[in-house]
Amino acid sequence: MQFNTALLHKADASDPNGATLPPVYQVSAFSHGSAEKLEEVFHNKAPGFAYSRIGNPTVDAFEKRIAALEGGIGAVACSSGMAAVTMSLLNILQSGDEIIAGAGLFGGTIDLLRDLQAFGIVTRFADSITAESVGSLINDRTKAVFTELIGNPKLDIVDIRAVSEVCHKHGIPLLIDSTTATPYLVHPFEYGADVVIHSTSKYINGSGDAISGVIIDSGHFSWNPERYPGFSEYKRFGKFAYLARLRNDIWRNTGCCLAPFHAFLNTIGLETLGLRMEKICCNAQKLAEFFAHTPGIEVNYPGLASSPSHTLAEAQFGGKGGAILTIRTGSKERAFRLMNHLQYAKIATNIGDVRTLVIHPASTIYAHSSEAEQELAGVYSDTIRISVGIEDAEDLIADFSQAIEASQS
Ligand SMILES: *Cc1c(COP(=O)(O)O)cnc(C)c1O
Repeated sequence: MQFNTALLHKADASDPNGATLPPVYQVSAFSHGSAEKLEEVFHNKAPGFAYSRIGNPTVDAFEKRIAALEGGIGAVACSSGMAAVTMSLLNILQSGDEIIAGAGLFGGTIDLLRDLQAFGIVTRFADSITAESVGSLINDRTKAVFTELIGNPKLDIVDIRAVSEVCHKHGIPLLIDSTTATPYLVHPFEYGADVVIHSTSKYINGSGDAISGVIIDSGHFSWNPERYPGFSEYKRFGKFAYLARLRNDIWRNTGCCLAPFHAFLNTIGLETLGLRMEKICCNAQKLAEFFAHTPGIEVNYPGLASSPSHTLAEAQFGGKGGAILTIRTGSKERAFRLMNHLQYAKIATNIGDVRTLVIHPASTIYAHSSEAEQELAGVYSDTIRISVGIEDAEDLIADFSQAIEASQS
């Protein structure tokens, strides 16, 4: 099965009434014919559902589809991408543990890693995640390496195979937030990643109409209970240990479940991921080439040979450059004027919408970071981030062209 076929037919559960999409089970609880039956369901001894915080058929259908698509053994859906990032880490960590992470992470994730310090979990940041930087930061307390695949908005790409090899040599898992890459560009498990996280609010949902996240497990990492004491009672689940612990402990108990209606919207979005990403990547490439030939504008896009990440984009993403690009305009004032003159591109803090969105990261997402932190994340006072949509490329180029001209005065 190729990608677009897989989106529709892989793990597509049959419905007794022939419904073509998983129906929305908009209920809190599920009743059972006998007390014995509910007891069995509660103890995972019989299939079925009891309460929607713990499991719901619409959410289950979405989890199965995304797990199959990524090539994982299962998935757990969460109320947001941030909930997914948080749960993916807290499922492993305890007080005294350390994480290695890239300095250019999504702002919310950086803030979360700071919050975790209050619980005795320390993060060591590398300017960029490479085999060398990870190797030099690993110590006895390191329990996880966390990175985004395409830094947003730095647009640097991680060499998954090289980094996962160093992690595994030390018995540590590699967790990848693959939101900006999407399963259209890459399946990180094929390159050695152990756990994949998506903010499905973005490309998987695709229309910007529901906040959600998901954690997918490869099933390949062996959780040594000496290093990960929380896993001693989950060892009996074999390759399902990570997912079993997540479902039965921290995810269930923090209550960050995905709403059935949002799972339904995500399943609809997932089915057109391939069509949208094909168009978006093609638009982004055309826009990037237009900017590259525009005097006074500096463009960063992994699909251009000028990008330091171009070789990795070729190797891991089949030459595609992804859906985001950044431009530098010379000054903050000019960046604002340019944004204010755009007619189609909307000024909003989101990515992965069908619409083209623009933002000035330095004054918004990175407003709480120092100038040095901003620069490590590829953010300058004159940077505009563009999340490319599915409009016609000619119209987008015309729109940016007139806004660039108008911004010169
Ligand atoms: C948006 C985003 C998140 C957070 O997701 P929410 O759904 O907004 O909570 C995490 N990681 C990346 C890379 C993101 O773009």
